[in-house]
Amino acid sequence: MVSPGTLYVVATPIGNLEDITLRAVRILTEVALVASEDTRHTRKLLAHLGIATPLVSYYKGKEAARAEPILARLVAGDDVALVSDAGTPGISDPGALLVRKARDRQIPVVPVPGPSALAAAVSVAGFERTAFLFLGFLPSRAAERHRVLSGLVREENLLVFYESPQRIVATLKECLAVLGDRRLVVARELTKLHEEILTSTTAELLADLAARPRVRGELVVVVEGGAAAEAPPAGEELAELLAWYRDRGELTLRDAVQRVTRDLGLKRAAVYQEALRVWEEEGKG
Ligand code: SAM
Repeated sequence: MVSPGTLYVVATPIGNLEDITLRAVRILTEVALVASEDTRHTRKLLAHLGIATPLVSYYKGKEAARAEPILARLVAGDDVALVSDAGTPGISDPGALLVRKARDRQIPVVPVPGPSALAAAVSVAGFERTAFLFLGFLPSRAAERHRVLSGLVREENLLVFYESPQRIVATLKECLAVLGDRRLVVARELTKLHEEILTSTTAELLADLAARPRVRGELVVVVEGGAAAEAPPAGEELAELLAWYRDRGELTLRDAVQRVTRDLGLKRAAVYQEALRVWEEEGKG
């Protein structure tokens, strides 16, 4: 009996074509077949790398039907590489079904890691906390998006999600309304010519992006986590509330002022004056 081939799950660049590993190039060259989300797209990458391996399409919506002939090749002893349009297959991309079916048939499944927009964005976000919750794409329907975000208000880990340029402004509005103003990073066009890593707060980035005639390109959003189960004390006086934020040490004076101004509906200047006093008090204590 012929032993089965191996299914290699191969990461490809998310923009810059230099971001392909030596191992990925070798595997893409050596396998009998490359299963690809979009064969036209992958053909360009393979041509750039000087690779002539035959391609077969494997895309969302047709995963079940497309998996069978690929599995047949693997069972017959051929090695196959699975790639998506960009980044790592199986991360907000097709792949899981083929991987599962291959494993069910005792076909070895081997990852060939490399770029992913998710990891690239987190790596430059600059948050102290490294644990994060990856949400893929948020639901496109506003009500559903609102429901998902509402369930994450107290999530203390970073929230990371993919977003389309058409929806980013609406989504940031929703984030501001549901999660409050937080530190937030929008990573746009990573590794490409117009790469932009915007780091500020939800309100400021919302204002920035809403002022643009059009947001273009691909986007990853990284949002600071919430304050877990420990909510600011309700009904506290302004000074106590500011001291509470100061003592937790998670917000800068400026961010604490912004949050308290919003939560208590006070004038920013008054909150700012009090914050200066409260922060100075700590210096003396
Ligand atoms: N599997 C891919 C990965 O590992 O990154 C993600 C595929 S998902 C269908 C595509 C989304 O990833 C885009 O809509 C965008 O949100 C994000 N993305 C992909 N490439 C990107 C890039 N160069 N810069 C920023 N975001 C990117």
